Amino acid sequence: MEFKAIRGVEDIIPPESEKFERVVDTFKEIVKLSGFKEVILPIFEEAKLFTRSVGETTDIVQKEMYVFQDKGGRTIALRPEGTASAVRAYVENGIYAREPFTKWFYVGPMFRFERPQAGRKRQFFQAGCEVFGIKEPGADAELIKVASDILKKLGIDAELQINSIGCKKCRPEYRRALISFLRERVNELCPTCRERLERNPLRVLDCKEESCQEVVSRAPKITDFLCQECKEHYERVKEYLKLLSVPFVENPLLVRGLDYYTKTVFEFKSSKLGAQSTVLAGGRYDDLIEEIGGPRTPALGFAMGIDRAILLLPESKERREGVFVVTRGEEAYRRGLKVVSFLREKGVKSEIDHRRGSFKAQMKAADRNRARYALIIGEEEVENDFFSLRDLETGKQERVEGLEELLGRL
Ligand SMILES: [Zn+2]
Ligand SMILES: [Zn+2]
Repeated sequence: MEFKAIRGVEDIIPPESEKFERVVDTFKEIVKLSGFKEVILPIFEEAKLFTRSVGETTDIVQKEMYVFQDKGGRTIALRPEGTASAVRAYVENGIYAREPFTKWFYVGPMFRFERPQAGRKRQFFQAGCEVFGIKEPGADAELIKVASDILKKLGIDAELQINSIGCKKCRPEYRRALISFLRERVNELCPTCRERLERNPLRVLDCKEESCQEVVSRAPKITDFLCQECKEHYERVKEYLKLLSVPFVENPLLVRGLDYYTKTVFEFKSSKLGAQSTVLAGGRYDDLIEEIGGPRTPALGFAMGIDRAILLLPESKERREGVFVVTRGEEAYRRGLKVVSFLREKGVKSEIDHRRGSFKAQMKAADRNRARYALIIGEEEVENDFFSLRDLETGKQERVEGLEELLGRL
C-alpha cells in the first residue's frame, strides 16, 4: 500500500479504542471527585518553553523533541509532555491572581522521537493532573492517593516508589558530592553516563546499565543531603501516605528525567511489561512557575501513560449489548427501520443490517457486532404482527407483542 502511518505513530482501532476510552473515563471520574477541572491545551508551543522547563540537558530536549520552523519563522515544538503547557497557561491567564489554589487535569497526545517498542510510541497519550498554589505536604499525599485510586479502579497492579530530590538550597551540595564520587569511578560508567556526569549527574542514578547500577548502589544518597525543610516535607508526605493507607517503597535512586522537579517525586511501576516500567509518575515542581515568568508559586502534578495503562488492563470479558434487527422481505425491513429508530430514541443501542443478506448472514453480523439480542422480523412475524426476540447469550427465543412489550423485555 502507498500510505502508511508514520513509524511509532499508531492507529488505535476498536476494540483497543474502547480500552482507551475506559482508561480516560476512569481517570476523569476519579480526578473530578477531588475537584480537578479540565484544561484543554495546545499540541504545539514555542520550543523555548520546553527547553526552559523540561531542561536543556535532558534527553527529551536534546534528542527526542519534534522541532520545526513554522511559516512565520518561529521555532515550534510538538509537546513532549503536558506540564510545561499547563504552567504556561496558568501564568498567561493570570489564574494565580484569582484562585487561592488551582487543580487542573488534561488528556491528549504527546510526541517524542524515541525508538518505538511496546508501550513506547512516538505519538503517545497522557492523562495528567496539576495542582498550583499549595506548598503543604498534604497536597503531595492527596495527589499520590488520587493516582493510586485511578490505577486501583482500572485493576492495574503497580508498585509506588517515592523519593525526595531536595530543593535549590540542598541539591547543589548533593550534586557536588555525587559528581566527585562518580568522577573517581568514571571508567566503570557507560558512555552515556560519562557524558552525563558533569551536566546532569542525577540521571546516572537511574541508568539501566548494570555497570552503572553497580556504581550507583554505593553512591551518596540524596536523602542524606536534604535540608531541614525538605526533610520535614518528605517525612510528612510519608506519614500522610500511611494515614491514607497508600503502600509505598522509598527509592533513593528515583530522580525522574525532567529538570523541574523539587522535593517529592514518585512513580508507579509495573513489571508486567517485561522490564519494570512506569505507568504513572510525577512530583513537585516549586520553582517552575517562577522560571516560566509567573510569581513564585508551589506546584505539583503527575501524568499517566494511557498507552501503557491499556497494556496493563486486566482482560475483561467483552460485553454483549443492545439489539440487532434481522429482517426478511421489504415489509419486515420497513418495520425494522421503525423499531431501530424507536429503540434509539428510548436510549437502547440498536442496529439493522441494510444489506439484507440471508437470514444466516444477518445472524452472523449480529454476533460479530456483539449484540445481546437479535430481533427477528420474518414473514410470519409481519403477518401475525409480533417480533421474535432471541437472547444471543442464552440462545433463548421469545415472542414479543408490540414495541412497549419489547422495551420492557430488554
Ligand atoms: Zn531542600
Ligand atoms: Zn549509564
